[in-house]
Amino acid sequence: MARFDVDYPHVRENADIAAVLAHYNVELQGDGEQRKGLCPFHDDTKPSLNVNVTKNVFKCHACGSGGNIIKLVQLINTSLSNPRLAALQIAEISGIGARPGAEPPTVSAPRLGKTVAKAKPELENVPEADAETAVSKNATLEAVDGKPFNRPLTFKLKLAPVVEGEDTQANQFLEARNIPYERIEELGIGVGQKGSMTNRLAIPVHNKDGDLVAYCGRDIGLLDDPEEPKYKFPDKFQKQLELYRWHVAKEFDQVVVVESFLTVIKHGAVAASCGFGLVSVMGTVISDEQVALLADANPSVLVCFDGDDAGQMGALVVGGLIAKSGLWVKDASYSNNCKPHQENSEVFCRRLGMI
Ligand SMILES: [Zn+2]
Repeated sequence: MARFDVDYPHVRENADIAAVLAHYNVELQGDGEQRKGLCPFHDDTKPSLNVNVTKNVFKCHACGSGGNIIKLVQLINTSLSNPRLAALQIAEISGIGARPGAEPPTVSAPRLGKTVAKAKPELENVPEADAETAVSKNATLEAVDGKPFNRPLTFKLKLAPVVEGEDTQANQFLEARNIPYERIEELGIGVGQKGSMTNRLAIPVHNKDGDLVAYCGRDIGLLDDPEEPKYKFPDKFQKQLELYRWHVAKEFDQVVVVESFLTVIKHGAVAASCGFGLVSVMGTVISDEQVALLADANPSVLVCFDGDDAGQMGALVVGGLIAKSGLWVKDASYSNNCKPHQENSEVFCRRLGMI
């Protein structure tokens, strides 16, 4: 696998928006910083699409579409709605690296033809459900083949998106941790509006097959009661049965096991582009079921827990349990109270010896 990651600000700033639009059969008129073209998002005859080729942003005054270049490709090619794939294609078309100093990607951005979506893709139509009650209704302690499982949800929660440029508590939470907005969108994370997820960052959790099984709510400083837990799971959700993002990480020969959601959210895309999977045990312990998930895929495993007492103790126990299953495992945990999610993604991967 190619060893490049995606630095979104680098792609946004250095991309060639005129070349990207030309790839999708939109020719721009004029030669200044502000140019115009036929809008690909509505039946346009005017042209109504305003493009700033220095800032790499677009705005259609007729249909209201607008945003940065990554948003443009996500909208124009619905098979690139994943921002990472969109950024890779932008880098490829623009002839730039997907991060500073990298060669332009050549194979990873799928060439999907010049399919132009005429309409802006709708967000999923999600019923307004409360994660708590819905999971309670759907979750089960019954066993399939004698094994407990989390029943997949039949809905998605309607979450408030965290929009770059706004000044909300969620924006401050992400920016303080240098978590890219594109990752939040890619992972379907937003701020809960109802029920137990209200005012928390709601993080979708999937089972090994990629079915949505629960939302976990992360406190972002909007809760009235300081006694509320930092992470809140639905009552009947059996957290010990899942590893966060295992459905993606299981494809890799090397898997790094961390404690927190935030580490996976922040570094997961870069990890994948460096050729390893990243999962969270959602705590400092590992269950027999979680070990069995790892053992099924037979990767080599690095345990990389936080550098506090709980993390260091946990890593020893967790590493021992994984080793007992027969997997190759090494402890690469932090020390001196440092935590992997505080690191920048490239430093994190380098420290693990993955770059
Ligand atoms: Zn338009």
